[in-house]
Order: sequence, then structure tokens, then C-alpha cells
Amino acid sequence: MTLDLSGDSLVSFFGKEYQIEILHCESAKPYIVISNFALRFLLTTKNFFKQKQEIIYLLKVKSTEFIKNFAIDIANRQDLSFNKIYVKDTVSRWGSCSSIGNININWKLCFAPTKCLEYVIIHELCHIIHMNHSKNFWEEVQKRMPDYKIWHNWLKDNSKLILIKL
Ligand SMILES: [Zn+2]
Repeated sequence: MTLDLSGDSLVSFFGKEYQIEILHCESAKPYIVISNFALRFLLTTKNFFKQKQEIIYLLKVKSTEFIKNFAIDIANRQDLSFNKIYVKDTVSRWGSCSSIGNININWKLCFAPTKCLEYVIIHELCHIIHMNHSKNFWEEVQKRMPDYKIWHNWLKDNSKLILIKL
């Protein structure tokens, strides 16, 4: 797997494969149309580097929307709560949790299986109960996601491909 965002390449977006389609549009702002099989990017520029910036911007917007809704859904299902959620662009970590109960999630989890995103969210939500990586913390994670190790390991094995500077 590689993370190639050029036209006609395939990309995994929230666990589903899509073909990237790049089109030029005359509108002032770029936009994205997601169909069953394609992520269609309608870009305002023909410059390769600016196109890439617009693609990343659009993926980030969609990703942020999905991750926020997903986190609310998981928190409800798990009967856990958080203060605020921020979807961030970091090169070093998948997520974090602050002492006031804010959780931060890396937007690039959109390129990983959705179970990985679920694991990271559960991991951060469990930090609201245990602010450490103690035995109790991991038991809490395990209780809420019995197969979490699979997804934890998937992220460890694939972080070099995804956790890169785009
Ligand atoms: Zn942690």
C-alpha cells in the first residue's frame, strides 16, 4: 500500500477503496464529490503542487466531519463522554487526550481501516477514565474493544505509510 493522491490512483478512505478523479472547475473554491467508487476532486488550479494542496484540504474537511460524527457515535455507544474533539494534522501521533477531557484525533486515520479509527477514539476516551497507560487503562480498552490489539498493531505496522507529511 502506498499513499498516492494523483489522478486515477486508488486510495483507501475510511475503509473503502476509491479511485481518485481529478477535474478542473471554474468555481472559486475546490470541492469534492464522493460516489460509490470515486473521490472526484474538482480543483480550481492546474498547477500540480496547488492541486495537491487542494486535494489534501478537501480530504481533511471530509475527514474531520466523519471523525467528529464517528467519535460522538462511539462515545454514545460506549457510554463515555468527552469535552471537545479536535481533528488535527500531526506527523507523530494518532491521538491524544488532555486533562480537561478534550480529545485530539489525527485526520490521516481516514486512510486506515475504520476499526483503527474506532480503536484510537476508544483509546483516547479511556484516558478520560485513566490518564496513563497502566494495566487498568489497557483493561478498560480491552473491555470495550476485545480485538483492539489487531488494530493497534495495524497502526504500528503501517504508520510509516500513513503518518507522513503529505
Ligand atoms: Zn494513550
